[in-house]
Amino acid sequence: MSIRTIHDQLELKGKRVLVRVDFNLPMDENGKITDTTRLEATEPTIRYLIQKEARVILLSHLGRPKPNEHDERLKMDEVAKTFSQIFKIPIKKMDKCFGKEVDQAITNLKNGEVILLENTRFHCEEEKNDPQFTKTLASYGDLFVNDAFGAAHRAHSSNVGIADFLPTYAGFLLEKEIKVLTALLETPERPLVFLVGGAKIDTKIGVLEHFLGKADTVLVGGGLANTFIHASGYDVGNSLCEKDKENLAKRLMAECVDFHERFLIPTDVIVSDKIAEDAKTFTLAIENVPKDLKILDIGPKTIEKYLQIIQKAKTVVWNGPPGLYEFTPFARGTKSIAKGLSNLQTTTILGGGDTVDAIRKFGHSFKEFSHVSTGGGAMLEFLEGKELPGVKIVTMAK
Ligand code: ADP
Ligand code: MG
Repeated sequence: MSIRTIHDQLELKGKRVLVRVDFNLPMDENGKITDTTRLEATEPTIRYLIQKEARVILLSHLGRPKPNEHDERLKMDEVAKTFSQIFKIPIKKMDKCFGKEVDQAITNLKNGEVILLENTRFHCEEEKNDPQFTKTLASYGDLFVNDAFGAAHRAHSSNVGIADFLPTYAGFLLEKEIKVLTALLETPERPLVFLVGGAKIDTKIGVLEHFLGKADTVLVGGGLANTFIHASGYDVGNSLCEKDKENLAKRLMAECVDFHERFLIPTDVIVSDKIAEDAKTFTLAIENVPKDLKILDIGPKTIEKYLQIIQKAKTVVWNGPPGLYEFTPFARGTKSIAKGLSNLQTTTILGGGDTVDAIRKFGHSFKEFSHVSTGGGAMLEFLEGKELPGVKIVTMAK
């Protein structure tokens, strides 16, 4: 796949460069930013444009505001302030996405200066990829750089529509994500192991199916393993379990029937009657889960088995925590997998909001893994083999 990227021959000095970044940062109830990964990930693109003396106009969405409601908590002020503080790059933050003040600010923007427009999702036109809204946004740039991998699975105005009006390039982050994930799909070093966990099958089914045909081994944990345990004929008690997905689970397992050891589900689990910090836990074989208890983590034998397989792999992809890691009594599986994957010689690729949250929580830095994706849904769809609209616009000939 050839990607059109920003590069040294590109004339950027004095140009108005519209950059779609992914500043959709996690925040707590008080609007305090809890993780700055996505700021760090896109800083190289912004710094490069500043060094090239471009006039930089940043665009992003934040959260899910109700259409045309300017939810105070979802304004971009805190994001702009945090970015400026971390990287010592001043950002002028606008209170609108368009209008007189924005026009004026862009006219006055000097080479090497940066402004950030207000949350694009404050306008319902954004998600509809409305041509008029898109055109207005596009009118602020001479060229367009998309660096928002986290939004690449959506075809909205600010990340995809603008490409209809302006020469379009990938920022460094988008370029890196595309390259790493394409190599993973096309030329993985084998054995390739896919470790999947998390809450539900629904969001993971596409990627699971795709990797069944690609990976040498698929290791399943988390809430979605319960559906497979149930489909294998065991009682999962009071656990999270999508019984309506039983046939699907059976079909997937049947597809692997010729390959023993290719699709693994837990053989032992951690169970409890409640989800709490002081929960009393038991370790049980999957045959023995009583009716009134919940499966909340993978057990020690499963952890050991999964780690053995991981240690023999040349490439490991991990999405979704294998247990309810937010609570200490059910965190051991996730902790052990994170530790087992860290600092390996193997290629290790991680993604998913909760997966990334978990590795941080357990004290790992991103450097301990080959690639930590900034895309949750975007990474999953990319790994399903889908063409993402935000990727397509930087790979077409233009
Ligand atoms: P990611 O964001 O990494 O893709 P998901 O959103 O799919 O991951 O799932 C993460 C959630 O799954 C976490 O909140 C975690 O507590 C939950 N989870 C993991 N195992 C279980 C389980 N056995 N029962 C209930 N929830 C679980
Ligand atoms: Mg999640």
